[in-house]
Amino acid sequence: RYYLISSLLMILLTGLVFRFLFKVMRSQRLYTQARLAFTGNMTHELKTPVAVIEAALDSITRYKLAEDPVRMENYLAISKNEINRLNLMIDKVLSLEQLDNGKINLRTELYDVQQGLESVVSSMRLRNSNGSVHIEYIPSEEPCFVNGDPVHLTNVFYNLMDNAIKYSGPEVRIQVLCTSVDDQIVVTIQDNGPGITKIYHERIFERFFRIPEHADIHTVKGTGLGLHYVQEIIAMHGGSIKVLDRPEGGAAFIIYLPAYHEI
Ligand code: ADP
Repeated sequence: RYYLISSLLMILLTGLVFRFLFKVMRSQRLYTQARLAFTGNMTHELKTPVAVIEAALDSITRYKLAEDPVRMENYLAISKNEINRLNLMIDKVLSLEQLDNGKINLRTELYDVQQGLESVVSSMRLRNSNGSVHIEYIPSEEPCFVNGDPVHLTNVFYNLMDNAIKYSGPEVRIQVLCTSVDDQIVVTIQDNGPGITKIYHERIFERFFRIPEHADIHTVKGTGLGLHYVQEIIAMHGGSIKVLDRPEGGAAFIIYLPAYHEI
């Protein structure tokens, strides 16, 4: 009988070990795939602005645009825009590198979440002022203060609104809400895009992960780093973030942050 029991235990244990190994190998394979996709996306993302700048500068010299100041200014503005994009991308990768090395130290202060949201909403409206992006901001009636790092929290709101615009197709409707519930400040950023299927609700926060159905690098640019950064920063503030699929379509990202208290 003991022999039978110990054999059964051995079989069970071997099964468990194999399952564990299989899981590790699977996650490593997924990670390698994601990393390869990241390199591809990143190369594409870096090459496009560089090619645009090269073409703009080429045109200035080839067509002697110094004699046509209006067209020259236009080409210079395009180049400036692309340089800004490159800078943003480099910042994203660098801040993630710092995050992974535990090098990000929050500089927290009394931070007005509503003011932060309003400033990001205004700059998003300015950047997308062609009439196809509508952002509605619904403020809280209560004050919404947290112990927060202004730079990183602004980046968080920026990333979420940028995603909402990127993934929502031609006519974008975004709603940004801030409320204060008990000891929590709750920020919701919701859109009318394709939404996020439940199976991806956790995976979208992994480094490099992009939903295969949304990630055609020729249509929507990205690196799969943004939401990982967002989640880490929110966690460093003692908060949390989750995503919901809205019944009327679209995604809703909900952030919970502990309300301000004297330190
Ligand atoms: P990136 O946008 O650079 O790909 P993120 O980490 O910001 O990386 O997002 C990860 C993935 O989550 C995106 O590739 C996209 O598939 C999905 N996603 C993020 N935000 C939205 C959204 N608002 N609507 C639909 N899908 C989204």
